[in-house]
Amino acid sequence: MPPIDNDTGKNELKCRIQQLIDSNQVMVFSKSYCPFCIKVKDLFKELQVDCNVVELDLIEDGTNYQEMLLEMTGQKTVPNVFINKTHVGGCDNTMKAHKDGSLQQLLSNNEAYDYDLIVIGGGSGGLACSKEAAALGKKAMVLDYVVPTPKGTTWGKSLMCLFWGRMFFVIFLNICIPKKLMHQTAVLGTAMQDARKFGWEFDETVKHNWETMKTAVNNYIGSLNWGYRVALRDKNVNYVNAYAEFIEPHKIKATNKRGKETFYTAAKFVLATGERPRYLGIPGDKEYCITSDDLFSLPHCPGKTLVIGASYVALECGGFLAGLGLDVTIMVRSILLRGFDQDMANRAGEHMEEHGVKFLRKYVPVKIEELEAGTPGKLKVTAKSTETDELIEGEYNTVLIAVGRDACTDKVGLDKAGVKVNPKNGKISVNDEEQTNVPHIYAIGDILDGKWELTPVAIQAGKLLARRLYGGSTLKCDYVNVPTTVFTPLEYGSCGLSEDRATELYGQDNLEVFHSLFWPLEFTVPGRDNNKCYAKIICNKLDNDRVIGFHYLGPNAGEVTQGFGVAMKCGATKEQLDSTIGIHPTCAEIFTTLDVTKSSGGDITQSGC
Ligand code: FAD
Ligand code: NAP
Repeated sequence: MPPIDNDTGKNELKCRIQQLIDSNQVMVFSKSYCPFCIKVKDLFKELQVDCNVVELDLIEDGTNYQEMLLEMTGQKTVPNVFINKTHVGGCDNTMKAHKDGSLQQLLSNNEAYDYDLIVIGGGSGGLACSKEAAALGKKAMVLDYVVPTPKGTTWGKSLMCLFWGRMFFVIFLNICIPKKLMHQTAVLGTAMQDARKFGWEFDETVKHNWETMKTAVNNYIGSLNWGYRVALRDKNVNYVNAYAEFIEPHKIKATNKRGKETFYTAAKFVLATGERPRYLGIPGDKEYCITSDDLFSLPHCPGKTLVIGASYVALECGGFLAGLGLDVTIMVRSILLRGFDQDMANRAGEHMEEHGVKFLRKYVPVKIEELEAGTPGKLKVTAKSTETDELIEGEYNTVLIAVGRDACTDKVGLDKAGVKVNPKNGKISVNDEEQTNVPHIYAIGDILDGKWELTPVAIQAGKLLARRLYGGSTLKCDYVNVPTTVFTPLEYGSCGLSEDRATELYGQDNLEVFHSLFWPLEFTVPGRDNNKCYAKIICNKLDNDRVIGFHYLGPNAGEVTQGFGVAMKCGATKEQLDSTIGIHPTCAEIFTTLDVTKSSGGDITQSGC
């Protein structure tokens, strides 16, 4: 690593070193082969004091660390020892301090926090962060508590649950998993229809049993939770099933489900409280409607369903419910999948429409009334046109609200800790190290302002944060070119910019868009969805035709997009895609043979493989 010659780089490094000094009772900057360093490390081992060591010869920018330590302490040699933020010095000074008792005095000066790190929220990000901190030798606690939905669902989390004949706390459920399993249920339904064309004969009328699916999915979640619990215990993370709120900048109150309050302090905190579904604020919404938090453990089949909203959650849930054979209508306020490539979003929507999903476009609900109670009952929905104010009515068994999610930041006592939130959306702004405006409080995951709301993003941010705080790492979470997939019936995977955004940023003249329709081999024998799948890449002509947008509509989009996500992280160009040999016969190979540009208006239908 070359020497740092700019102020920003120097400041960043200084902050990183200061953070290590501030976060560790004993911090030793060392070199793995240095006998004086070994002597000092042995001393702390003998004293049974947890000491955090950064071996400067084993990290890439160790020389820069040493230069900065010289600037900060006047000492360039190693070991360079700090105790409770006080600079002790090298080996001789440390040994002398041990002899005259001042070392013990310094060690006992600890501000005596209960924990090195408390993580509030035990979802995707919080668990990853707390486990990593504990693995790096820190005393870590994670608090998780799920406030029930208006329908009373705690969605499996934080409940006592019977599994393998044992009672235990269900600690965590990633909602992506039941969603993907229910999507898979629908995919299997289509596969069964295809199977007849491939010669499979089965006489019975094929029908789907909601309860069997729900039980199987929930049982699998139970088994996952058991694994999470064991992993936390093995890593020495103290998991507490309680609702946490700040009462002072370094102190929280934890309230368990019996209302018992316990207080804990920590040197550092990570907020990872996620989001919960938003309601509409119209008559009848909380009384009669469900959200995605209820759907995956709904005890009965939802029947004829109205889905309100048109983003990820709405289209995915509406898609798999229709795939189970239910009568599904999606009420769209404006456009499908805001923020995504609109060409792709509309193609995904058209496919749903062709397969029986009804779209009520440009309407918003104004009132929900119960016509009949039951499982499911019957509801009347009144909706208003966004263009003409015309009112329409419809009857459904279930109304699923999927109009976005609110950050869980309003009841965490952030004002007591001094953490600022964006008053418009309740989200938290952080710097590129996930640090809030209060230096010892960090935030990760869905509650971050302007960042991706995806499980792997929360996990990556949490893990890397712990490594920076306690492991001397410098790696930051990269929020650019994050691959993602919308699990609509025809799945949509993307990475990088939408065509609309790329045009805004670079101008149409500086872009080349290559695209093609395609017909997966698996669809040909059943004769379905001919030339409905679509592949598109957006290349930046100003930068060697680098691929800045990748879009795929077809089967197994997540699997296909993941690999191209890696390629984009490596800066793949069109030429590199062209020189990659495809795997035949697959869907993904289309990206190695794209040769029709959108600007040419050339034919993009595929006649065979
Ligand atoms: P969460 O995982 O939501 O965890 C936050 C936890 O903190 C919750 O358990 C909450 O109850 C708890 N909590 C809140 N306040 C407190 C408090 N004061 N004290 C204690 N505990 C508290 N992402 C994908 O990548 N792929 C998908 O396929 C996908 N599908 C999705 C499907 C649906 C229906 C939804 C709603 C989301 C989906 N997501 C998906 C998004 C993904 O679930 C989130 O991005 C991810 O869970 C965010 O992680 P997090 O750690 O920020 O929050
Ligand atoms: P979202 O992306 O915020 O979209 C909200 C949708 O609801 C939009 O279509 C919006 O329409 C509509 N809406 C908002 N207010 C409305 C109102 N009053 N009446 C009618 N419609 C209204 O929310 P989301 O779908 O809940 O997703 C939240 C996040 O979860 C996503 O950003 C995503 O990152 C994550 N997620 C990921 C996956 C995955 O990875 N597969 C799956 C699900 C969720 P407008 O466009 O008109 O505003």
